[in-house]
Amino acid sequence: MTMNTSPLQLPTYDDVAAAAERLKGVAHRTPVLTSRTVDEKLGAQLFFKCENLQRVGAFKLRGAYNALARFSPEQRRHGALAFSSGNHAQAIALAAQILDMPALIVMPEDAPASKMAATRGYGAQVVTYNRFTEDREAIAAKLAGERGMTLVPPYNHRDVIAGQGTTAKELLEDVPGLDYLFVCTGGGGLLSGCLLSARALAPQCKVYGVEPETGNDVQQSLRAGHIVRIDTPHTIADGAQTQAPGDITFALIRQYVQDIVTVSDEQLVQALRFYAERMKIVVEPTGALSLAGALHGGIKLSGARVGIVISGGNVDLERYARFLAD
Ligand SMILES: *Cc1c(COP(=O)(O)O)cnc(C)c1O
Repeated sequence: MTMNTSPLQLPTYDDVAAAAERLKGVAHRTPVLTSRTVDEKLGAQLFFKCENLQRVGAFKLRGAYNALARFSPEQRRHGALAFSSGNHAQAIALAAQILDMPALIVMPEDAPASKMAATRGYGAQVVTYNRFTEDREAIAAKLAGERGMTLVPPYNHRDVIAGQGTTAKELLEDVPGLDYLFVCTGGGGLLSGCLLSARALAPQCKVYGVEPETGNDVQQSLRAGHIVRIDTPHTIADGAQTQAPGDITFALIRQYVQDIVTVSDEQLVQALRFYAERMKIVVEPTGALSLAGALHGGIKLSGARVGIVISGGNVDLERYARFLAD
């Protein structure tokens, strides 16, 4: 283990509140939906924060825009760089377009054509690499050096975390008195930001992270008391295929989370169907983690007011149709 000599700069709720100001007029204040069916089934009141209806189809715009908005004039001139084939790429691309700065996204050459097209559609340059023979971090570092661009990581970054935390800030403002909050967890950016908001706005609210059972790197880390790295997990929740939390996200999660629960892919598919059939909304598999965790995480919710963060709705339609038909 290496000694970390510089103390971690953890974001605070003040950073979340500042991010909320920056995001005004940029990110949607997404709606909070309810369902009588699920309330009757659970004997509880559930409140769904719909980030599947956010711009770019996921909460990631919040953190991406907040990070880019804080660039210095020099950083703005050279632009932002990200490596991602998912929602973070599109979020960085749109945020850069809004702020009128260049963006470069490093993606595997076998990434879905629709994702590449969407990212280019926001004006970003896409550079591809071979995921089996090339190291994306080395490529990104080289490009960042050559072009003077600033690399924005998808979760382990103060400003990204602060931006993601505005999701729970809005929910807790719109729905006071929540007893529980369920948040899906990949690298933990969304969860750690939401923890900051919950601590400040609803200290009595118990916040649970939800991971796929095959991809429980954060749960394992929490149990071990240090960051545990796992192999890339096989799960339909592609937004939660992270191998380890970051040092910043883990420090916040460890401090404030009630616990992390896990769910199976089968339970995610059930939740996707529930959203489609009963609530008439399209949710991506990772976005269904939070509801599946509330339903199957073994936590007694009867009589409680429960917040559910739906993180995103970007799913290839053919893939989605297969989940519904199975
Ligand atoms: C990125 C993402 C996640 C995971 O977020 P982290 O901050 O890495 O925990 C969950 N759901 C969706 C839809 C995402 O795009």
